[in-house]
Amino acid sequence: MDKYIYMDHAATTPLDPEVLRGMSEAAENLWQNPSSIYQASEACRAALENAREKVATLINAGTNEIVFTSGGTEADNWAIAAGLEYGKNKGKHIITSATEHPAILRTCEYLERSGRAEVSYLDTDEEGRVSLEQIEKAIRKDTVLISVMLANNETGTIQPVKEIARIAHDNGILFHSDAVQAVGHIPVDVAKLQPDLLSASGHKFYGPKGSGFLYIRKGLKLPPFIHGGGQEKNRRAGTENIAGIVGVGIAAEQAAESLQLRMKKERELSEYLISGLKKEIPFCRLNGPEKDRLPGHVNVSFKTVPAEYILVTLDMHRICASAGSACAAGLPDPSHVLRAMGRTMEEAYEGIRYSLSWMNTKEEIDQVIACTAKAVARYRVGSRTARW
Ligand SMILES: *Cc1c(COP(=O)(O)O)cnc(C)c1O
Repeated sequence: MDKYIYMDHAATTPLDPEVLRGMSEAAENLWQNPSSIYQASEACRAALENAREKVATLINAGTNEIVFTSGGTEADNWAIAAGLEYGKNKGKHIITSATEHPAILRTCEYLERSGRAEVSYLDTDEEGRVSLEQIEKAIRKDTVLISVMLANNETGTIQPVKEIARIAHDNGILFHSDAVQAVGHIPVDVAKLQPDLLSASGHKFYGPKGSGFLYIRKGLKLPPFIHGGGQEKNRRAGTENIAGIVGVGIAAEQAAESLQLRMKKERELSEYLISGLKKEIPFCRLNGPEKDRLPGHVNVSFKTVPAEYILVTLDMHRICASAGSACAAGLPDPSHVLRAMGRTMEEAYEGIRYSLSWMNTKEEIDQVIACTAKAVARYRVGSRTARW
C-alpha cells in the first residue's frame, strides 16, 4: 500500500496500529461467547463494556446509550425504521435532506415504496446546508422523524444539527443524525447537539469495517432492527463482534486523545491543497463552504472536465481519490449531492473529492496538484481540438 498516495479517507481509513494490535489480541483470546454464564466469558463481557465506555466518552454519551451495530448502514437503517415505528400513532412522514448517504436515502425510498412512509427530501443551499426555515416549512401534523446528517461525505459540509434538533423537539418529532463522517474527526457532543439517535461507523475513523454503533438517547424505547437473542440489552440481537467492537473502542480512544491535533494538521493540509489547485488550475471551484466543513474534505470541480477523466489519470499515477461516494463508484453517476446543491447535470459530473488524513504530507499533495493540473490541461486541450 505504501506506493499509493491515499486521499480517499472519506471512503474508508486504514486501521490504526493500536487498533490492529487490540483487535488481534481480542480475536485470539476473547473468543468465548459473552452471553455465557461461566467465568471464562467474563473477560469478553468486560472488553465489550470497556469499548462502550470509550465510545461513550468520545461523543459525551452515557454507556447505556451506545448500541453496537455492524456499521453505519445498519445504524442508519435501524434509526429510520425504528423512528417510524415509534411514531406510528402520529403518522408516517419523514423529513430528510437530498444530500444524505444512500444508507438513508435508499432506506427512505424502500419504506415509501412499501407504503410505510411518506418522505420529504430537502434540497440545500449552494454550499450544501438545509435551512431551518425549510425544515419548519416541511413539518406536518403527521411528521414523526427528521434525519439530517452531521457532515456530508462528499463535500464535508456541516449541517446545523443542533438547531434542527431543537426544532424537531419543539414539534414533538424524533431527530436522527448520520454522524458517520463526523465522529472521530470533529468534536461530536450529544449533550450539546441533543439528537435522539446518532449513527457512527468504525472504519471511517481508523477502526475496523463492519463495526459501528447507534447512539440512542436515554429513556427512548425503540424496537430492535435485528431480531433474535437478548444481546445489547435486547436492543440488537446476534453474538457480538468482539474484535470489531474492541477495535471501535480503541479507535474512539485514539480519536478522543488526538482530535485537536488531527484537525489542525488536516486543516493545514487541505488549505494547502485548495490553494495549490486554485493557483495551478483555471476555473477551479470549491464545492461546499469555506468554513463549517470537515477539516480533511476537499471537493472541487474543474469546469468542463468530467471527474472520471481526472480520476483515471490519478489512478495511473497511483493516487486514490474519488468522485461522489464510494458506493456509487464504478461507472459514476452525477453526484446527487451536487445536484441537490443546485448544480447543473454537467457540473454534477465534475466534482472530485480528495479526503485527507493528518498522515498525508505536503510532498504527496504537491504530486496530487501537479498530476491533477496536467490531467485538466490535457483534457481541456483535447476537447477543444475535438470540436474543430
Ligand atoms: C460510510 C458512510 C455510511 C455507511 O457506513 P458503513 O459502516 O460503511 O456501513 C453511512 N453514512 C455516511 C455519511 C457514510 O460516509
